[in-house]
Amino acid sequence: MATETQHRAQSRTPILLSKIEDCQDVVNTAVIIPKEDGVISVSEDRTVRVWLKRDGAQYWPSVHHSMPGPCSCMSFNPETRRLSVGMDSGEVSEFILSEDYNKMAPALSFHAHQGRVTVVLFVLEMEWVLSTGQDKNFTWHCSESGQRLGSYRITSCVSGLQYPFSLRDVTILKLEQDSCSLVTTFKGHTGSVTALCWDPVQRVLFSGSSDHSIIMWDIGGGRGTAIELQGHNEKVQGLCYVPHTRQLISCSSDGGVVIWNMEVTRQETPDWLDSDSCQRCEQPFFWNFKQMWDSKRIGLRQHHCRKCGQAVCGKCSSKRSTIPLMGFEFQVRVCDSCHESISEEDRAPTATFHDSKHNIVHVHFEPTRGWLLTTGPDKVIKLWDMTPVVS
Ligand SMILES: [Zn+2]
Ligand SMILES: [Zn+2]
Repeated sequence: MATETQHRAQSRTPILLSKIEDCQDVVNTAVIIPKEDGVISVSEDRTVRVWLKRDGAQYWPSVHHSMPGPCSCMSFNPETRRLSVGMDSGEVSEFILSEDYNKMAPALSFHAHQGRVTVVLFVLEMEWVLSTGQDKNFTWHCSESGQRLGSYRITSCVSGLQYPFSLRDVTILKLEQDSCSLVTTFKGHTGSVTALCWDPVQRVLFSGSSDHSIIMWDIGGGRGTAIELQGHNEKVQGLCYVPHTRQLISCSSDGGVVIWNMEVTRQETPDWLDSDSCQRCEQPFFWNFKQMWDSKRIGLRQHHCRKCGQAVCGKCSSKRSTIPLMGFEFQVRVCDSCHESISEEDRAPTATFHDSKHNIVHVHFEPTRGWLLTTGPDKVIKLWDMTPVVS
């Protein structure tokens, strides 16, 4: 019975609804307009376009606006129909879209960075435009006047920004009208952070990285836990959290789309233990010359069991297993005793795996209809119905 349900869950996949293929270059950001059959895109080809579905089938451009240079990022606020576009030149340009999405009026433009704008985010409650750039600055401007309210220098280039958080490693900043202070920095990834999303109910922050992993940081619980999710073979490019189903959608640059069940209780991975000899058979590791000499044995290579963290030799950790509740959806090395302790039930996947069939640059999820948008270096925007897998 369990296997049958599992099989049924795996046979459900996202449904490709539409493809938008008219852009001349990479679409760096695109969003689905809520309650409207429409998409807004900004591209390296210097255009801002609004696409509306016509005749019930294809998406046609209702706005096609040429900018002075490549558009690197954007943020759209549906309540005010305010569109903030970040440019390769360091400029941020703001527009207001008409109610029928057929016109776009310029509102404001300001110079935010010395280099390409990497992330722009409009915060309605504060009337702020937050942005980060290749100049490694994080700035915030007043969205009414365009006046710079403050800036903060970050040690490395920022590629993800999530209000009220900003990052690399994952840097948490506290923003006030004219000041910004560092709250804390989380370190966990071995690569740079490429995507972020926030679950306001559980107060959990998810970060995705070029090291292929995702980390779930417990911010609100105060327990300081960091749970790893390993289900991608390439750089994580986008994360979206679906609060009502408690699912996390993650996308990687190789086109992989993973839907994680975040309702299950997950466990932290153990720290790797240090030892000069195998913690199971006690054979010395190869750098332990004294014990090798004393016992007249050849030193062995050290490995670590992913479940208990013990330092073990290859012979004592010859088996592999998935450990889904520890985030290992792929097979990993485990020691022989841990292998015995993992039951068939423990191995039940907590995620489903899908292929978007294009490399992914950017993703956006629209929760009311359950639609996912993906863009790729192939210049194509794809719209997916996720309701078969997100429900
Ligand atoms: Zn051993
Ligand atoms: Zn073990």
